Amino acid sequence: MEAEAKLQPQAAETKTEPSQYKILVIEDEPEVRESYVDMFEFLGFNIDTAENGMEGLGKLKKQPYQIVFTDLNMPVMDGLQTLRLIKKNYPDIEVIVITGFATIENAIKAMKQGAFDYITKPVSFEHVRIVLNRCIQTINAKKENKKLRDLNEELSKLNDMKNKFITITNHELRTPIAVLKGYFDLLEMDLEDQVSDSVKEYMNIIKSTIGEMADMVENMHDLSILSHYTGHLNKKRVRVNNLVLHVYKKMKKLYVLRKIQLMYRIDDNDPIVVIDPHKMEKALTELVQNALKYTKEGGKVLIRSKLDKNKNQVFISVIDTGIGIPHDKIHYIFEPFYEVQNELHHFTSKTEFMGGGIGVGLPMVKEIVEAHNGEINVESSPGKGSIFTIIIAAES
Ligand code: ADP
Repeated sequence: MEAEAKLQPQAAETKTEPSQYKILVIEDEPEVRESYVDMFEFLGFNIDTAENGMEGLGKLKKQPYQIVFTDLNMPVMDGLQTLRLIKKNYPDIEVIVITGFATIENAIKAMKQGAFDYITKPVSFEHVRIVLNRCIQTINAKKENKKLRDLNEELSKLNDMKNKFITITNHELRTPIAVLKGYFDLLEMDLEDQVSDSVKEYMNIIKSTIGEMADMVENMHDLSILSHYTGHLNKKRVRVNNLVLHVYKKMKKLYVLRKIQLMYRIDDNDPIVVIDPHKMEKALTELVQNALKYTKEGGKVLIRSKLDKNKNQVFISVIDTGIGIPHDKIHYIFEPFYEVQNELHHFTSKTEFMGGGIGVGLPMVKEIVEAHNGEINVESSPGKGSIFTIIIAAES
């Protein structure tokens, strides 16, 4: 039998080499101790020995071991006490106890005190191999769990930092942008008839850029506060068709400029929903803006409201004939700051229309919809188009 064949393969990304695990064997009888050493060495483990619990604990203090293999009946300090002290001081070490049939109750006590398993005498090589296999798998699983927990903690810290950053940036940006906008409006009024056409054009560019900045900061602001203030929705009874028409009218002009056909189809049942109209309008506008951004000239976009009477739900869809979203990217688009393409792939220019965003639009839509206990769905076919659907409860 080959030594490598003894241990089963472990889960990917975990250590599999027995030599990477250090085992401390605590056994008072020299011949028995030697037989354990032979067995573990044959299996390829890194072995150390101690004659009793006291000596064993001394060794644990000096260097790390992953597994302790201890007899229960020993002079100086018995196995149970040794186990108690190991588990108290080194909870990550797995302890396997060896016991004769006469002391099986002790084995049960040992299990209750945290032993990984027990092996009865006479010790069978096969039994030891199986128990060690499980033990290593448990050690590795615990390690992986710890890694995941640490990673999770790290991510949540990063998320907090990101939120703080957004909040601070927001506060710092909102005021100067408001000031800029205010003074620009004054300047525009004062200079109204005194400037040449080319200066007027420059001023228009400045104005629309300030508008874009204001929108972007507003979106970031909404995103940063929504997750904390979703309870603060100012809900009202709203006719879904009115909401659709309102967004349609607001966006129509931009669509004409881009030579994309914007259409709407509303439900004859004129469904009513109880929502925060301002927030839901923002969400729907965002979807219609995205459809505009990611659709080529000559394309079509439809805003559609539909009542499902059986489910008592309203479906508000924005259907475009745009570039679509690759299947493997679709799950990420609701993640903050995620963009499938860079701005070069946006079909609008940065200055003339809404331009490329920063990937906070869809997360904001999701937050708003979920704050209304609704759902946002997306179906997309690259090169053909996308359908974003907001599903919310209709008033019963
Ligand atoms: P952005 O501000 O970049 O538009 P969003 O959060 O609104 O950010 O959208 C995230 C990404 O999802 C976009 O960068 C884009 O790649 C993709 N996307 C969103 N809407 C559409 C759409 N209607 N068609 C194709 N891709 C879209």
